[in-house]
Amino acid sequence: MRVALLLVVLGAMAAALGNQVLGSSPSPASSSSSSSSTAASPIDVRRSEHRDLRSGHRGALGEADGAVPDRTTVFDDEVPGVAKLDSALLGALRQAATDAAGDGVQFVVDSGWRSPAYQEQLLQDAVLKYGSEAEAARWVATPNTSAHVSGDAVDVGPSGAAAWLSEHGAAYGLCQVYGNEPWHYELRPEAIDHGCPAVYADPTHDPRMQR
Ligand SMILES: [Zn+2]
Repeated sequence: MRVALLLVVLGAMAAALGNQVLGSSPSPASSSSSSSSTAASPIDVRRSEHRDLRSGHRGALGEADGAVPDRTTVFDDEVPGVAKLDSALLGALRQAATDAAGDGVQFVVDSGWRSPAYQEQLLQDAVLKYGSEAEAARWVATPNTSAHVSGDAVDVGPSGAAAWLSEHGAAYGLCQVYGNEPWHYELRPEAIDHGCPAVYADPTHDPRMQR
C-alpha cells in the first residue's frame, strides 16, 4: 500500500511536471468544469490505472490482450501491444525513438494495441471510478471507438518522452490528439508538411468517439 501511494504521488508529480513542460491546460476548455477542481486529477488516476495494468494486477487480462510489461519499447516485437500496432504508426515511432535516443530521451510504451476485452475492462473500471458513463467517456473510449483497439494509438512515457514528441513529433507525423492526454499519440501523415491539427480538449469532442 505504501509503495502504491508513493507511485501515485510520483505519478502526480510527473503529470504536473509534464503539464508544465508541455504547456497544456490541466483542465478541459469546456464542459463539466465543476469536476476539474477535484483533489486527484483524472490524469493522475489514469496514469496509476495504466501502471496497475502493466504490472499485471488485472488477473485474466494479460499481454495477449495488450497489457505491456514495464519498460516495453517500440522495438519490442514480441509484445502483442506493440506488434499489433498499425505498421505505419510503428515505423514512425521507431524513427522518432531512434532520433530521441540521440538526444538522450528514451521512449517507453505505456499502452499500445488493446483487445476489445481489455478496452471494455478499462471502460468499466472508469465508469466505477468516475461514477458515470458520461464522465468516464472523457478518459476511456469504448471498444468500438478506441484508436488503441484498432492499433492506431500509443501512450508514450515517461513525461520527458511525451515532451520530446510534443516538440518533434509532427516531423514524423506523430501528433497529440487530446489536450487532456499529453501521452496519447496517433499518426497524422499530413502533419509532416502541415504540422499537427489542433487538439480536442478531450475525447468527447472527437467526432470519431460518437457511439
Ligand atoms: Zn491513449
